[in-house]
Order: sequence, then structure tokens, then C-alpha cells
Amino acid sequence: MRIIADFHVHSKYSRATSKDMTTPHLAKWADKKGINIIASGDFQHPGYLGELKNKLKEAEPGLYRSKDGKTDARIILSTEISNIYKHDGKVRKIHTLVLMPTLKDALKFSKVLSEKGNTSSDGRPIFGFSARDLLKIAFDVTADAMVIPAHVWTPWFSIFGSKSGYNSIEECYGEDSKYIKAIETGLSSDPSANWRVSALDNITLISNSDAHSPRKIGREANVFDCNMTYYDIKKAIETKDKKKFLYTIEFFPEEGKYHYDGHRLCGVSYHPRESLAKNNRCPVCFKPLTLGVLHRVEELADRPWDFVPDSAIPQRHVIQLEEIISDARDTAPSSKKVQAEYEMILARGGTEFGILLDKSGDELKQICDPRIAEAVMRVRNEEVNVIPGYDGEFGKIFIYRDSEKSANRTKNMQMEMFDK
Ligand SMILES: [Zn+2]
Ligand SMILES: [Zn+2]
Ligand SMILES: [Zn+2]
Repeated sequence: MRIIADFHVHSKYSRATSKDMTTPHLAKWADKKGINIIASGDFQHPGYLGELKNKLKEAEPGLYRSKDGKTDARIILSTEISNIYKHDGKVRKIHTLVLMPTLKDALKFSKVLSEKGNTSSDGRPIFGFSARDLLKIAFDVTADAMVIPAHVWTPWFSIFGSKSGYNSIEECYGEDSKYIKAIETGLSSDPSANWRVSALDNITLISNSDAHSPRKIGREANVFDCNMTYYDIKKAIETKDKKKFLYTIEFFPEEGKYHYDGHRLCGVSYHPRESLAKNNRCPVCFKPLTLGVLHRVEELADRPWDFVPDSAIPQRHVIQLEEIISDARDTAPSSKKVQAEYEMILARGGTEFGILLDKSGDELKQICDPRIAEAVMRVRNEEVNVIPGYDGEFGKIFIYRDSEKSANRTKNMQMEMFDK
């Protein structure tokens, strides 16, 4: 069966998250969107772990569901840990996803971490030991753990980040690198950018929403065709089996907060080529620019933009349906008008992913207004205009609405700008 899975969200116990980030709401929104497996988020947090134990029961090996039976979505135990430490004379700040198959393992992991620092103040706790030590702790708890460096290209808090990362997996994990089977590409990069780095050919690229509110879950996700168990999913990821791991669902990377270089407060946004011409300095405040994902990929890449390795798992770009409606109607996604139309389309057409990924143009016209149907098809064909995000500012995607500053994505601006 086709399984859509999102392995990275945060609960209400993390900072700056919606109070609705609890498993009943997560499962309800997963059902609406057509997500079959949704991350619990934050499972090491003692308060949240208590909730998980009360509300969930095991459904299939390593996967849980609500005891109340009101929802179908499966919950997978997943959390994100922040490690800030000195290594080889540099401060490193790394975020890592940790997945485990059972609540018993989650409890063990939580206990070990609570001896090393404060696990209750934030759902995404910070520790002073290394990312490599975190890997050892997770695998000491269970050999079935999955340890996955998170949003690997973002400038802060990532393994390849320009501010406090490394230049390779080996530099970070040494001989334990062999346990790193997958990395999360993050919202500001997509697999095609990572395909340029030959050192990642044996690593599986996964994509998750990192959502802080229920409506944002699934904005990136992974699509499998395998048995519905933790262990089959883990195997599909680790063996990079193209028959079992079908494709990833991607944000347009330009929409991510750290695609381009720049300074948000100075209003400066550059393609890496422009930054290099200015010695990576801001012309307004003269301080170093925040170098985004595109820049960092360019530094570590050893292949041209259009290179596709044989082992690559395909990718599909999507825009969330509420944003598509918002663009077509020229109204904010959070407006009552957009949300009412979203609910109406779902009532007629099934899940959001069914609409975004599967329905034909004719089917779409039967369940929604022709203008929305056309917009869904344009997104599928990647006929959109973009203004890239930079230094913490989300990028903007336009389907109908145009802007002087936006560029037509179908011309593949990234490639053109680099292949001088
Ligand atoms: Zn993170
Ligand atoms: Zn996160
Ligand atoms: Zn500046």
C-alpha cells in the first residue's frame, strides 16, 4: 500500500508551537491530508511522554494510534534534539531527529537524557554533549533507533550549516558515520540540490514538515510502498530501495527561509553569485551575510545542477492546498473564505494529498472551481513564479498572482545562474 509519512513535527511542549500540537489533533489533520504516518514529535519530554502513554496504543509493530478510535493515522515516535558543543576548536550546533519503535524505548531514552540535562523545559531540549554522543546514546537504548541529521543545510543548527556545521558526515561522526543512513534535506533544499554532492550518494534523503501547527504537517513528506510497520519503513529508508521508497514530497526550496544569502534587517537578498562578488559582505551594515542553503550546497558540491545519480529517489514539489486557494482567490490563507473553500473541496474530493498528487485535471474540475483546478495542475507542472527566501524570511511562490520581483521557475533559475 502507498504510505505517506511525515517524521518531524513538534508538540505543544516545544517553544513557539500551537497548543493544538497534541496527538488527537495531529492524527485528525493527518487523516484530512492523507498522511498515513505522522510523527509524535518531542517524545523525550516527560510530560508529553505521559500523554503519549495514556492516549496511544500499538497498532502495528512500532506504530501507534489513538486509543479513542476516532482517527486512522498512525503515530511514529520521533523527537528532535539540539546539541551545542565544541569540536576541533569550533562551536557546533546540530539538530538531530531520533526515532524509536516503542514507548518503552522512548522512556529509556528520556531517562538517560534527563541525567544529562533538562528535558522538561523545552520539547526540543539542548545538550552540551556531541551529536556523535547522541547517536551512541540512541543506539544504546535500542539498535532499532533511527538517527537522522535534521534540515542539514540550514545555516544554524545543522550538520552542513554555514555557521556551525561540518563539511562532511565523517567530520562529525568519525567511525560512527556508518550508522547515519539518512539525512533530512530541510525546507530550503530539495533532493536535486543534494544530488550534486557525490559524498551523499549512499545516504537516503528524507523530507519532513518540521511543523509547529497542525495545518502545516505534510508540507514535506515521504512516500513508501511497503508494509505498515516501523521496521519495514526503516528498512525501506536504510536500503534506499526504489521499489519501496517511491518519492519525497517537497516544498519549492526557494520558499524556504534560508534559500538565498542575505540580511533580513538590512533588506539584502542575494543569489550566491552576487554574494561572492561582494566578498559575502552586506553592503548596508558591512557585516558577513547569512549564507543560505544554495551557497552552502555550491561549496560542497562536486557536480553540475542537473546531475541525477542512479540511486536517486525521485521528488515531487507541492504547495499546500490552502495556499493554492489563497493564491487563486487573492486572499490570505488564514482567511475564513479560504478555509471554507478548503473544507468544501476536501468534503467533495477526499484527502488533500489525493487532490494535490492523484486526481486528473478532469476530476479536479468536478470537485473544485476551474481556477483552483488549473492552479493545482500548474503546481504539479512546476509552472510557478518565485521570490527566494533568505536569512530567516520565507520565500514567496506565485501561481496566478505575479510580482515584479518574482522569477519564472520553469526557466530553472538556479541552473542558469550557475552555469555561466
Ligand atoms: Zn531543528
Ligand atoms: Zn524541528
Ligand atoms: Zn546587513
